[in-house]
Amino acid sequence: MSTPWHVLGAGSLGTLWATRLARAGKPVRLIVRDPQRLAAYQAAGGLTLVEHGQAQRFNIPGETAESGEPISRLLVACKAYDAEQAVARLAPRLAPGAELILLQNGLGSQDAVAAQVPQARCICASSTEGAFREGDWRVVFAGHGYTWLGDSGHPVAPIWLDDLVDAGIPHEWSTDILTRLWRKLALNCAINPLTVLHDCRNGGLQDHHCEVATLCGELTELLERCGQPAAAQDLAQEVERVIHATAANYSSMYQDVAHQRRTEISYLLGYACKVAARHQLNLPHLNQLQQRLIAHLHSLGLPSD
Ligand code: NAP
Repeated sequence: MSTPWHVLGAGSLGTLWATRLARAGKPVRLIVRDPQRLAAYQAAGGLTLVEHGQAQRFNIPGETAESGEPISRLLVACKAYDAEQAVARLAPRLAPGAELILLQNGLGSQDAVAAQVPQARCICASSTEGAFREGDWRVVFAGHGYTWLGDSGHPVAPIWLDDLVDAGIPHEWSTDILTRLWRKLALNCAINPLTVLHDCRNGGLQDHHCEVATLCGELTELLERCGQPAAAQDLAQEVERVIHATAANYSSMYQDVAHQRRTEISYLLGYACKVAARHQLNLPHLNQLQQRLIAHLHSLGLPSD
């Protein structure tokens, strides 16, 4: 039997991956938070994926971190702020040569996870697929996209990419995954916080062209300073293009705030400001943006980390 996929986190992306792998006949196990969540999952009878308006349920076996089976392949599908602790609980179960696939947005959580499991190979992912939870254990596949996977320390692709082909998960092995993660982080920093502060869709930033351009200038400086010149190339043009192409959308940070959910600020804008400080780079507009966003989150009673 082929190596099971253990999926940590039964949220939007975890469900999107788990259900497509199960549909392709791959062995999948779902790891949920605690025994209460496990009982709720079992009562629901599985995970439901809604695609093109059609719902399909998959009775994927569930377990908690404390279950005994060794793990060889772990898809980490928690939010960035939960990943380190969630993986630390699983460290004793990792088999020799285990591989982790980290789906977290932004930067910072990947290094924190890798430090918890020095014996394992950590592969980072950057995805443009979109999904959201319609309720517990039920996820809507909202936006088709692509997932880039890569390991900055080891350029050879893993054999299980074949499972993704069989499961119809569009992907590409990337030898410059850090560049992709930095580029996505920079796009996020230039767009998402401003959509929250101006209370607008992405397209609303067309009225704040100067503010966006100033941030892009500082982000370009940051990327160049931390050895990511490819991620810096034509950043301002791409930000303008994304604002235009996604004008009708609400950014993920906007949606988190609108639903009173914790944001991933520490792994996005917060990470950018931290790295700038480490390089003694003075980026006043980026720092001011962070302060404004933190104050706004506090005013709404939301965490700012
Ligand atoms: P999500 O829907 O909030 O799902 C996260 C899941 O992790 C939840 O089900 C949560 O459990 C679970 N979890 C947290 N701690 C856990 C633990 N210790 N043990 C087991 N499960 C645990 O998040 P998401 O939208 O899938 O996002 C995951 C990551 O992918 C984020 O970094 C996000 O930025 C990135 N991403 C998401 C999308 C998207 O379209 N959704 C697209 C690209 C990138 P509970 O259900 O018990 O709370």
